[in-house]
Amino acid sequence: MGSLPNYMPTKYDLVIVGGGISGASLLYTTAKFTDIDSVSLIEKEPTIAAINSHHTNNSQTLHFGDIETNYTLEKAEQVKEGAEILAGYLERYDPDREMHSKRSKMVLAVGEEEVEQLERRYHEEGFGELFPKLRAIEREEIAALEPNVVEGRDPETELLALQTPDGYVVDYGETAKSLVSQATEEPGVDVYTSTEVENVAETADGYALSTDEGRFDCEAAVVAAGSHSLQIAKNLGYGDDMVLLPIAGSFFLSEGLLNGKVYTLQMKKLPFAAVHGDADVHDASITRFGPTAKLVPTLERGRLSTVGDFLDVFGLNVAAVRSYANILADRVLLPYVLKNLVYDLPKLGRRAFLPHVRKVVPTAELGDVECAKGYGGVRPQIVDTAERSLDMGEAKIVGDDIIFNITPSPGASTSLKNAMEDARTLVEFFGDDCEFDEDAFRADTIEQFPRPERAAASPTPTD
Ligand SMILES: Cc1cc2nc3c(=O)[nH]c(=O)nc-3n(C[C@H](O)[C@H](O)[C@H](O)COP(=O)(O)OP(=O)(O)OC[C@H]3O[C@@H](n4cnc5c(N)ncnc54)[C@H](O)[C@@H]3O)c2cc1C
Repeated sequence: MGSLPNYMPTKYDLVIVGGGISGASLLYTTAKFTDIDSVSLIEKEPTIAAINSHHTNNSQTLHFGDIETNYTLEKAEQVKEGAEILAGYLERYDPDREMHSKRSKMVLAVGEEEVEQLERRYHEEGFGELFPKLRAIEREEIAALEPNVVEGRDPETELLALQTPDGYVVDYGETAKSLVSQATEEPGVDVYTSTEVENVAETADGYALSTDEGRFDCEAAVVAAGSHSLQIAKNLGYGDDMVLLPIAGSFFLSEGLLNGKVYTLQMKKLPFAAVHGDADVHDASITRFGPTAKLVPTLERGRLSTVGDFLDVFGLNVAAVRSYANILADRVLLPYVLKNLVYDLPKLGRRAFLPHVRKVVPTAELGDVECAKGYGGVRPQIVDTAERSLDMGEAKIVGDDIIFNITPSPGASTSLKNAMEDARTLVEFFGDDCEFDEDAFRADTIEQFPRPERAAASPTPTD
């Protein structure tokens, strides 16, 4: 990130807390396409996107909803729009593919039952129609694209995959930096890194944010600080019926096993995406298998300093404890979460994880995978303490001239769509004389996304 401004104006129309992909997307959207005069972004780390949005900490997938078999058609339609907005941005601002790449991606069905399920999804449930580039391919074609997926399987076992060459793999960290740099070309935009928001308090005409670098005042605020957003929301009296179930995800790395992304069918009733193989955005020979799903009492990966923050969000009240007990008593979830504790153990973890890799690459050996040290992040899963249930969708709280974004769904993929929706809310906060030029936003993003007709006229090469 660039240097800090050498002055510190204390008053902005809008302050955004958190410089991950969510905060960066909103900074870009409001700075370029609204007439909010002054906007600042405050990030506690020395660089933008150092936590979950960093490229080592997530699976780098741009989720379109085409190969994610845990989505309904309705969810896939919503997800697709969000992905096309972000993909359009990348098409426009990343012609040299420094922030993204395109690789083959497929979801694989193995055996009669799974094949039937996938065929139904493609031909009858509308996924084939919604995603015109998605093709149903059989053993031979699968082998041509991903030889190691087929090698070693019983030739009698039925195989089917839904595949597209258009698998966007995204470095969300670099994308966040690009969004910030687009925004800072506009007047009235400042970015403060290494500045931690310690408290947010309501004032007569907005909010006062105390930071370790001084006080900021604003008319409206958006807190896009990941799990910390809920902590700040609770301090302001919001989110009483929410607590967090922080789920840490780790990865295992391998070289030369896959050419692109290979998903397996979603395990029934499991709230987390099934383990899969993802090509690395910057090195096609590396595959990242995972993520695992381990329950941790922290808000950020490997940072014991955030245990206290977790306890703050948890609140240690009866409703929270009962909700945890109810969720973890689930017959599918509990064994899954317990098993996942083993995967991070040295030596034993790799051996225990190998069967997941073999679901994708049957001939994989122990020596083919290594634990990706220092990789991974913490997904804040929301617990609804009124319903005592796990809420898997987006978590956002809209208050008085303040928005708290706790987790986008599905993740970073939807960050620009989320920013578009927040921009609509913000102009309402600011009143009649404030506008959001959504047409210009769309022209800069989703309208840059290559449609099949346009793609046929000028094909985009895959990497
Ligand atoms: C293992 C794993 C795999 C994933 N895979 C994918 C995937 O393939 N595709 C996908 O789309 N999504 C994926 N996700 C989800 C995705 O990474 C997140 O949804 C996304 O990065 C969230 O962005 P964010 O900006 O909301 O949060 P973050 O990136 O965590 O950013 C929040 C920022 O707020 C800052 N902050 C916090 N508190 C304060 C404070 N008090 N003051 C100032 N700053 C503060 C933090 O330092 C941080 O920079 C994955 C997540 C995990 C953990």
